[in-house]
Amino acid sequence: MNGFREHFQRFMVGRYGMDRLGHFLNGAAFVFIAAGFFSRIRLLDMAGMVFLILCYFRMFSKNIGKRFQENQKFERIWFRISEAFRKWRFKLQQSRKFHIYKCPSCGQKIRIPRGKGKISIHCPKCGTDFIKKS
Ligand SMILES: [Zn+2]
Repeated sequence: MNGFREHFQRFMVGRYGMDRLGHFLNGAAFVFIAAGFFSRIRLLDMAGMVFLILCYFRMFSKNIGKRFQENQKFERIWFRISEAFRKWRFKLQQSRKFHIYKCPSCGQKIRIPRGKGKISIHCPKCGTDFIKKS
């Protein structure tokens, strides 16, 4: 067992190894292969295999600079996706807690907490009062 580990460590010298993109590819491979297995859609586990091959290719690659750049690019994209998702979730939470009404005379948008029954809303822009159910 120890011999194998030493051998593997020696093999990995000068090779890139694992990073965030590697973990992502590995996870994606697992998801696709599992989905392919359960749905019996061959294309899915083929895609999974591609992800897995890419993951190992990058891990054993000796072109460390290029792999590092790939990971940087991935981190940037990942950040943008997670930011968009965070914003979307915030909006959803807001829309659950608040209702947006438009003032009937000037069109000003007013945010009102939900679940307060019938309330009178005072427009801060033009001073119109109107009744709405929140
Ligand atoms: Zn108004």
